Amino acid sequence: MTTVQHHRGYDADVLIVGGGIVGVSTAMQLVERYPGLSVLLLEKEASLAAHQSGHNSGVIHAGVYYAPGSLKAEFCRQGAAATYEFARRHDVSVEQCGKLIVATDDVEVERLDVLYARCQQNHLAPQMLGEAALKELEPRVVGRAAIRVATSGIADFPAMTAKMAQLAQEQGAQILLNQRVDALHEDENGITAETASSRFRARHAIVCAGLMADRLAKMCKVDLDFRIVPFRGEYYRLPETKNDIVKHLVYPVPNPALPFLGVHLTRMIGGYVTVGPNAVLALAREGYRWRDANLKDLAGMAAFPGFWKMLGKHGASGLNEMWNSLWKPGYLELCRRYCPELALSDLEPYPSGVRAQAVMADGTMVHDFLIRSSQRSLHVCNAPSPAATSALPIGAYLVEAFDKRFDPAPRSRPRSPHQIHDLASG
Ligand SMILES: Cc1cc2nc3c(=O)[nH]c(=O)nc-3n(C[C@H](O)[C@H](O)[C@H](O)COP(=O)(O)OP(=O)(O)OC[C@H]3O[C@@H](n4cnc5c(N)ncnc54)[C@H](O)[C@@H]3O)c2cc1C
Repeated sequence: MTTVQHHRGYDADVLIVGGGIVGVSTAMQLVERYPGLSVLLLEKEASLAAHQSGHNSGVIHAGVYYAPGSLKAEFCRQGAAATYEFARRHDVSVEQCGKLIVATDDVEVERLDVLYARCQQNHLAPQMLGEAALKELEPRVVGRAAIRVATSGIADFPAMTAKMAQLAQEQGAQILLNQRVDALHEDENGITAETASSRFRARHAIVCAGLMADRLAKMCKVDLDFRIVPFRGEYYRLPETKNDIVKHLVYPVPNPALPFLGVHLTRMIGGYVTVGPNAVLALAREGYRWRDANLKDLAGMAAFPGFWKMLGKHGASGLNEMWNSLWKPGYLELCRRYCPELALSDLEPYPSGVRAQAVMADGTMVHDFLIRSSQRSLHVCNAPSPAATSALPIGAYLVEAFDKRFDPAPRSRPRSPHQIHDLASG
């Protein structure tokens, strides 16, 4: 049995499920806001940030793509600023290197104009560059035009998660690893979580379970009109000799129908450069390679009508992605469109990530954040990119939503919400 400190018959006032960057940010902000509130975070893996939060591009997004007024746009704008601030204050590596979105043909030039307008609506002070200006800024990149956004950058998100966990623990939060929540039972007085070795009783729960979000939501009888569909993002790493190939992050113009940004050149905090990620359907929720298939996950997808409707809508681009995943020269061509010097030998192996993409019953991929509640719990049902960038405002939002919906700590008076933005109407 795992031991935790007991508080008045409960193991915790608030149980958090999931030790990714969203769960940990929420734990940190809960204990900051409510001194004396007991918070217990359960993570099923042996380390924090073991899934999406530790397998991503490491980009601090500025908020280029997102519909003005959406939670995504708001969280991203606030999140970028909060991430730089947090990282600088706590000595987590960040670099504000800026980003270029490069159009290579007529269709993309038209789409670039739309993106430029969106950047302006999102108050990002974009710069439109012609071919010559692009060449001058990034001599090894080609394109007909590009948008430059100076506030994009890169961060070490696993280190940021670890720092937030440390701060949360210093204020009294408990974090237990290797504790997979297999069941959640709600009643009028609280919620009980069962793991293989223990039972934990709490007044309330906040569930930030990423790729498993729908399964945990189902345990709390949340309306399941969506399912998580896993999309693997495969990367390659460029050789050390190409560490200086670009000064910015270099992105293609994305397909507006899909919530993915396309294969981009990303400067990483370690000083190297990656290309990726693509977006291929994964055969398991935590399927980091083609050979990782899981029958339960596949059967769940096949039984969900929204999955087939999504395939009907996006099947052609899905097949294309799959082809380029299996055929490296196809993948290379995606990068060579804007960086023609790249060769097959430049694409060295690099670990993949798997995105948790919520898909609705009508086959729509959910672009925005999706947060649902039950009698005693809040559930983050869709936290897609840029949720690493936005982890601080998402955590603040959850604390605020929690405060409004539940009576978090009758005995503990909240601190002034100096960092907690009122996003509830956002
Ligand atoms: C390929 C890729 C590239 C991306 N690039 C970027 C980027 O550049 N910038 C950006 O801002 N965002 C990016 N993202 C998005 C970002 O990484 C995620 O949105 C973010 O990490 C989500 O955090 P999370 O805490 O919600 O999920 P996760 O990090 O997946 O954490 C969920 C946690 O819950 C745990 N869990 C699940 N079920 C249980 C259970 N039953 N019991 C206990 N624990 C459980 C899991 O083990 C996991 O640790 C990218 C994502 C991917 C996959």
